[in-house]
Amino acid sequence: MFDSSEIACAISAVREAAILARAVQKELVTPALTKDDRSPVTVGDFAVQAVVARRLAEYLPGSELIGEESAEALRLAEGVDTLEQVTHFVRRLVPDATPEEVCGLIDRGNVTPGADDPPAEFWTLDPIDGTYGFLRRVQYAVALGKIENGIVTIGVLGCPELAKSRESAPGGEGSLVVAVRGQGAWWQPLVGNGGGEWQRLHVSNRADAASARVLRSVEKAHTNTDEIGRLAEHLGITAAPVPLDSQAKYAVLAAGAGDVLLRLISPKQPNYKEKIWDQAAGSLVITEAGGRITDLDGRALDFSLGRSLTANRGILATNGPLHEPLLAGLQAIGA
Ligand code: AMP
Ligand code: MG
Repeated sequence: MFDSSEIACAISAVREAAILARAVQKELVTPALTKDDRSPVTVGDFAVQAVVARRLAEYLPGSELIGEESAEALRLAEGVDTLEQVTHFVRRLVPDATPEEVCGLIDRGNVTPGADDPPAEFWTLDPIDGTYGFLRRVQYAVALGKIENGIVTIGVLGCPELAKSRESAPGGEGSLVVAVRGQGAWWQPLVGNGGGEWQRLHVSNRADAASARVLRSVEKAHTNTDEIGRLAEHLGITAAPVPLDSQAKYAVLAAGAGDVLLRLISPKQPNYKEKIWDQAAGSLVITEAGGRITDLDGRALDFSLGRSLTANRGILATNGPLHEPLLAGLQAIGA
């Protein structure tokens, strides 16, 4: 199972990085934190990107990484304290790391391919997807995907607060979800290696739109909740949408514990384009579990255009049978 060195490296890097993120959360997200203090997530983001970049460099030399973070802010005088904290956490996994090396590792993920010339093969990382979930101690994920010629071929999600790839269970064993193109989507506990056993993920087979269980972002700024309401009304969906942060939503859909995932366009950012690291791993998890993912117009996601999905608009992911009814519903309400 997953015997290629590439897949093994991606799985083990995400596993150790997600466990490190959990340690950052445990130690830095304290009751003393003020409402707007995002410093734990900043430290976690940088530490995770440094560790994953280091493992890719170590085990897959020559591989390229496009990550969400750059070390620019850490190299400034104002960044010294943060860099010190980041280095402190990175050293738990890379004992000899210096602050300068930590910055260098983070910047390994800072390749910016132009729309005309992205590398043919690269990894893309969201070190902590679901910032708000991380700070509120609910769902977040370390998300790593591999893109080859615009196609996602490997997706790994480390979800420290998700049990059995489907249930919120803060402080539990977490879930590690892996999808490999043509080889299915699988999960095992994040902590304890699950005895090495992988269990296969399958989407639901629900075909009646009115009984669909809809997953959406918690953050209203990342979707359009009014429009989700109108769509539900149009399709006769009675159950309230389930709010979840991060690509943990994709794991839940892949496990059959939800039927539809919507990222409608927030009225606050009508021209927002999805980032590749927010969609790469999760999208493969869904298709390999038997589901479908497109944009809101039914177009395939185009990962060949650089850091953003510039040719797409929003996201619709479903179990498959519900895809056409949902696309028709979106069109009918003008979403
Ligand atoms: P979620 O956990 O579903 O709220 O999604 C988290 C991701 O949404 C973050 O990683 C951001 O990159 C991304 N994001 C930021 N702004 C927007 C927006 N206006 N619309 C959709 N997604 C966004
Ligand atoms: Mg993200």
